[in-house]
Amino acid sequence: MLDLNYEEVNKIINEEMKNDSVMKIVTICKDLLPLFNKIIKKCEFLPEKRYEIEYENSTSLALSYLKINHQEYYEEAKRMMDNNEIHIADYSLDNAGCDSYSGEIFLGNNRNISDGLTLIHELFHHFNLRPFNRFHQENTISRELFGEAISIAAELDFKRKLEDKSLLEDAKKFEIDYINDAIDCIKKIKVELVLLDLYSVYGKIDKEIIKKFIDNNEDNVFGPIVLEEAESVINNITEWGSNLKIPLNIKYAIGIVFGYYISDLIEEDNNKWKIVYELNTKLYELDFNDLLNIICPLYNNDTIFDSFYKHYEELKKATTI
Ligand SMILES: [Zn+2]
Repeated sequence: MLDLNYEEVNKIINEEMKNDSVMKIVTICKDLLPLFNKIIKKCEFLPEKRYEIEYENSTSLALSYLKINHQEYYEEAKRMMDNNEIHIADYSLDNAGCDSYSGEIFLGNNRNISDGLTLIHELFHHFNLRPFNRFHQENTISRELFGEAISIAAELDFKRKLEDKSLLEDAKKFEIDYINDAIDCIKKIKVELVLLDLYSVYGKIDKEIIKKFIDNNEDNVFGPIVLEEAESVINNITEWGSNLKIPLNIKYAIGIVFGYYISDLIEEDNNKWKIVYELNTKLYELDFNDLLNIICPLYNNDTIFDSFYKHYEELKKATTI
């Protein structure tokens, strides 16, 4: 269902097309299309794994991990705990996160390993807010996209170092969610790009134009998506330009795919963390492509795909046993 009528949608898209930040996001997504295409061609949604163990103290487990692996992050987490800047609710929380202005972290209590994973994720965001968090309100594309990848890489590293086999097993469930999210988000990006292309060609989009595209392109990106679903993606597009709010699907698609890649680089060479810490505090200053070139100078779509696919295959095996 469309939130707005097409006239309003077209007005917003017209504005967005003139917005440099929006066009930058479009360019990044277009550059990554060969990689995205490969992923949705080769990977399908994994069955959810229904294995869950209760674990009360996964945030302390996360702190122990930080203490051993990320000294500065550990010190900051301790300081925040002492100053009540890390708030842990005693129920599960939909909007866990790191406040962009105050830097405070809000966590729920799910009583499983996800609490520890979330603490690490948000703490890494906390670091990439500095030194701007208390003074600046603006957000940048690099922080939104690359910050997500760094937080996810840190989660994956924590998961990899879990010693308790049953917790490690349980953590796989959250990884399966990530893989499925990435596939879903990439499919939406493809639809968004087609809609923007249609806008460029026709100067507008509406039901007829989209229908015509679907009818004329049998093997089209909408796949089994019917018009109604395409319209829910249009709702997404109308948010592209507002306050540089990067659509969540783009943030997560890039975050997850590059998160796996960064975590693989770190597994190969733990010293890579130094580069990651440095980048994490400099995200505001650097362009997205520069960030990619620093962390993965030899990267190309194939190496990034291989890394994602390796983990996809492992998880696929784990869900079918
Ligand atoms: Zn995040």
